[in-house]
Amino acid sequence: MSTSSSGRDLRLALVAHDAKKDALVTWARDHVTRMQDAILFATGTTGARIKKALPQLDINCLKSGPLGGDQQIGAMICEGRLDAIIFFIDPLSPMPHDVDVKALSRLAIVYDLPFANSPTTASFVLKSLAAEAA
Ligand code: PGA
Repeated sequence: MSTSSSGRDLRLALVAHDAKKDALVTWARDHVTRMQDAILFATGTTGARIKKALPQLDINCLKSGPLGGDQQIGAMICEGRLDAIIFFIDPLSPMPHDVDVKALSRLAIVYDLPFANSPTTASFVLKSLAAEAA
């Protein structure tokens, strides 16, 4: 099992807006070996989609984003329980829980936590964290 630079298992939160869920499933598939060694959390619908496509991944599913899942991840940031957030945001659609996304990105900045919003950025973050752990 991989460990982060501080000797803990790598802890990742995974979230994708509806229009980006396929992209996150594809990204997770492309990185499945590293993902299998991480402790994974996801908002409800995102987690269910990834689990269905990649049943070998053990994902701790939180509430759906609009029902508080984003805020649960925010609490995890404050409590130091995450090493990175992979959140594929849909930049082209208005959404009712936009304020939750803003709150989450604010906390990620406050706590200087890697917050990846696209496949390329997420790959860089994962590679970098894995290299630190090596
Ligand atoms: P979901 O939430 O995974 O439950 O769809 C994602 C979001 O924050 O929109």
